[in-house]
Amino acid sequence: MIGHDPYAPQSGDPSYDVETYDLDLAYRVRTNRLEGRAIVNAVTAVATSSVTLDLIGLRASRVRVDGDRRTRWQQGARKLRVALPRRMEPGERFSLDIEYSGAPAPRHSRWGAIGWEELADGALVAGQPTGAPTWFPCNDRPDDRARYRIAVATDPGYVAVATGALVATERRGGSDVRVFESSVPTAAYLAAVHVGRYRTERLSDRMTLACAPAQRTAARRAFAPLPHMMAVFESAFGPYPQEACTIVVTADELEIPLEAQGLAVFGANHLDAESERLVAHELAHQWFGNSVGIARWGDIWLNEGFACYAEWLWSEASGGPTVAEAAASHHALLAALPQDLVISDPGPDRMFDDRVYKRGALTLHAVRAEAGDAAFATFLRAWATSHRHELVGTDDFRAFASRVTGRDLAGVLTDWLDRPALPPLPGRP
Ligand SMILES: [Zn+2]
Repeated sequence: MIGHDPYAPQSGDPSYDVETYDLDLAYRVRTNRLEGRAIVNAVTAVATSSVTLDLIGLRASRVRVDGDRRTRWQQGARKLRVALPRRMEPGERFSLDIEYSGAPAPRHSRWGAIGWEELADGALVAGQPTGAPTWFPCNDRPDDRARYRIAVATDPGYVAVATGALVATERRGGSDVRVFESSVPTAAYLAAVHVGRYRTERLSDRMTLACAPAQRTAARRAFAPLPHMMAVFESAFGPYPQEACTIVVTADELEIPLEAQGLAVFGANHLDAESERLVAHELAHQWFGNSVGIARWGDIWLNEGFACYAEWLWSEASGGPTVAEAAASHHALLAALPQDLVISDPGPDRMFDDRVYKRGALTLHAVRAEAGDAAFATFLRAWATSHRHELVGTDDFRAFASRVTGRDLAGVLTDWLDRPALPPLPGRP
């Protein structure tokens, strides 16, 4: 067990790990009312007699551990504390059954308003990094990955899309219920639900588009490159590691697109040609971030650097600027910005700083310049396939890069990852 994440010390409980979340949700768009029942199957990591779950803005009304009606529990502003029936030893299993409800809303965090968010005519989830507790009780840690079953009931006319593969649709008491299952390990921040007046259609045998009719034509055009993009990335990173590939386009404009496990959401404003790099970015997160995952937020460059590098790979593969050209132009942009950030530990307030993203991608380009194209290609694919659905850290990356490329990259990686000064453009003598 590691302790609390220093970037989000109030989130999560390191004393247990969740194995499965089984969520039954009913959501009314008009009144923004969410009623939920969460069955959380978990295992203790240390000896403990109580556990906490993150739950924000919603009230629990009933809590049971292993079906016990006498379960003692209390709820504060951020946490639901539940007493276990006895002191449990490490490795013991328990099951929580929690009923809860309320008007879900984003939480205000140092990263802005995140979590469940109402749209003009629907709702979305922006979970990263600590938004998950605004819609279900969870152990909100990036290193606690679980399987999910999510059933969402909505009023007729609305369609819910959630993390996982759609396994059932049914009519229940005047509501439309759609059930999703995800058997790949998923962190709470990568679970999501989107509700809107969507219609779904297949983009290919394994890709689904959900959007409102008004966005359909533009969305079809915007996501037409997706099958080619998928082929390019599968050849670079190995087989697509998710059970679903679902794209949601909201009728609202969104600030940024968001990735979740097997799922990504784009705004109505992300359907133009300039947004194609964002499509590549979010798709690449299915390998880097969602499959190969970070245990600590301080390692966020591993998600974002790879996703940005994938944008450059797609640009080159689709006839745009080459990787070398993209690297050169982003290096020039970074050189003009303050060099006061260490990307292997940017600090919580700067973990989403664009310099973490771009310098992360340039770090990969530096590995390529040192190792050569062939060894780098082997490394890229091996990193994604050998850590498929596993947790990694920056030190794993350092060791793996040197081992797979057969080069001692320690010095180069220290310059790129651990020092604020921007090293020269890789590949330039
Ligand atoms: Zn990203």
